[in-house]
Order: sequence, then C-alpha cells, then structure tokens
Amino acid sequence: MIYLDYQATTPIAPEVAVAMQPWIEENFANPHSPSRWGHEADAAIDVARTRVEKAIGLKGGSIAFTGSATEALNWALKGTVEKGKKGRDRIVTVATEHAAVLDSCDWLAGHGADVRVLPVGRDGLIDLEALAGELDERTLLVSVMLVNNEIGVLQPVSEIASMAHEAGALMLCDAVQALGRVDIPAGPDLVAVSAHKIHGPKGIGALWMKDGAEPAPFIHGGGQERGMRSGTLSPALCVGFGAAAKLAQERADKDFDHVQNLWATAVRALGPGWTINGSVAHRYRGNLNIGREGVDGARLIADLRDIAFSLGSACASGSGRPSHVLQALGLNYREARSSLRLGFGRYTKPAELVDACQRIAAAAREQEKLDA
Ligand code: PLP
Repeated sequence: MIYLDYQATTPIAPEVAVAMQPWIEENFANPHSPSRWGHEADAAIDVARTRVEKAIGLKGGSIAFTGSATEALNWALKGTVEKGKKGRDRIVTVATEHAAVLDSCDWLAGHGADVRVLPVGRDGLIDLEALAGELDERTLLVSVMLVNNEIGVLQPVSEIASMAHEAGALMLCDAVQALGRVDIPAGPDLVAVSAHKIHGPKGIGALWMKDGAEPAPFIHGGGQERGMRSGTLSPALCVGFGAAAKLAQERADKDFDHVQNLWATAVRALGPGWTINGSVAHRYRGNLNIGREGVDGARLIADLRDIAFSLGSACASGSGRPSHVLQALGLNYREARSSLRLGFGRYTKPAELVDACQRIAAAAREQEKLDA
C-alpha cells in the first residue's frame, strides 16, 4: 500500500512503539496508586506531559490528557460555556472547522448558546472583518483551527486571538493538524491536540489550557487531571504521546523540508489539468487537495485500492456526503465530488509518491475517456 492519508492518521513511529512497550507488557500498575510501581507509572506520565507541553510550545499554561482531540474540543467548548458569565454566551467559529467543533457548537446552540458560524473565501481563509463584526461584550469564545484537516490552509490564529481578547473573549485553537508540523503561534487560551496525527498512538489527545482559562470540569469521577477530567490514565498511551511529541520537536526542520520537497514532487507527477483547493501560499504543504473537472473521486479511490487517499475528512469520505469544507469554499456539489486529498509526511518516499500520483492522473484520464 502507498499511504497518502496523513491527515486521517499517521503511521506510528518505531521509536514510539519501543517507548510504549514496557508500559503494555511489564508495568501495568495504576499510575494513581501509591505503590512503587504506581509511582513509576505516574513519573513516566509526568515526563510525557512535559514533552507534549514543550511540543505545543506555549507559555503560561498546562495540559490535561484526554481520550482524543474530539473530547478535548467538546470539553473546551462545553466547559467554557458552562463557566461563562451571564450575558456572554456567543461562540464564534468558522464553516471549515472539524465536525468535533461544529457539532459541539450545534449541540450548544440547541441548549441556548448564540453560535455564529463565519464563512470563508475561495482560498479557505477567514474574513477578519466578518469576525470583527461578531466580537463584542457578548462574545465568550472564538474557535478557529490552525491547519485545516481537509485543505491544509493556515488561519491567522495570533491575530484572531488578539481580536478575541480585545473583546474580552477567549480563543480556542484546534491545532490537531498543526502540532509537530508548524509552530503554534502565541495567543490561544485553549489548544486541542491529538497523538495519532504525530506518529503517536490512537486513543489519546490533550487540552492545553492557559492558567485561569480552564473550562469547567468535564468528566466527573476519581479526580484525575486536577479534578477536571477523571478517569485512570493509560501510561502506555501517555508515554507514546510524549515520545511522539519529543520526536516531532527533534525532527521539526527535517520533516518540514521533506514535506516541502514532497509537495513539489507530487505536483510535478500529477501533471496538468488539476486545480488546488484552498490557498497555496497560506498552507501546510503536506496536504494537497486537488480537483479535476469531470472526475469522480470516489470511483478513483475504488479503482486504486492499493493507494490510500481520501475525498476529505475520514468522516466525510465514509458518509458519501460531499465535504462541508469544500462547499464552504464555494465549490458546487460536482466540484466537491471531483476533489481528492493527498496527505504525505515523514515516512513518504518520493518514488512511491511519484508512482501514486502518476497512477492517479492516469486513472483520472481513463475516467474522462470512458465518460466522453
Ligand atoms: N480536529 C482536526 C483538525 C482533525 O483533523 C481531527 C482528526 O480527524 C480531530 C480534530 C479529531 O481528532 P481525534 O481523532 O483525536 O478525535
């Protein structure tokens, strides 16, 4: 298989698997138990915590581990609304956010919150004037992701955070696709991240919280994670996340350069006839979202079963519905169905990328011939 679906998930790094092994096979102690083994597991989690915090790289806050970034985003949104003062109940977000944000906002709207979903331009970028129009003393939280999972577009998160703060609001940033790939700029009060997008294990994420901006506790029980998110932590998953975060930091420049080269390689190998969806300038280049007139993306995926790529988010590909992100960019139903997302990264070899892109282009031309 040629794996070109790095936005859906990333292959686990060998170093991560090695780091997790002893916490699966040998030390199975509960990290919250007072035994020596419990203390050892707890200490390993502390090291992992520091590594994830360092990779996030923001000052004046700390993380709580969660079961996923979806959980972290649900917590950030719902817990902030729960803690919000009377009269401040507006949440401002963007049409291209992940379902974890948009569906949580829908749920909150159903429970009385004033939710505003801003449109984006054809380039996928937020309109800062439209944002300014939603910011006043009623605005509680602005939620904007840094790197879009479907089109790779980078939003101006620092600027958005400053605007939110000026109105007395907080800013939540979904940095799931950014961690380990681009620097997270200063500004956000809450940041959601996930291990499996940075060559770590699935089933663990984290919410970084600026001191004083912590949302209300989300999961009640044994009082773990400072009483905010109860539940026994998994030392193996925490250690895996920590190892992946450390590796991502150490390899940041190398991985970034590799991805820049892969982008150029892929564009060349695809040849003419494709358009790139979303801004090319403001973009993480491990994401190549492309469209081609008349192509049926789902059919291409079915025709090329040994190449893993997708139509958009894994959720959108599974549902058969056209991507809400591409629709927000102004693509019509047909254009959205003719778009593909190729995602590559650390372990992608240029030769396999060339092979895959040439075969995708050939299969698209074949479709055009058959449909002509
Ligand atoms: N936000 C973005 C931008 C994502 O790409 C994803 C993963 O698909 C998520 C949130 C959810 O992350 P998790 O799989 O950890 O729930």
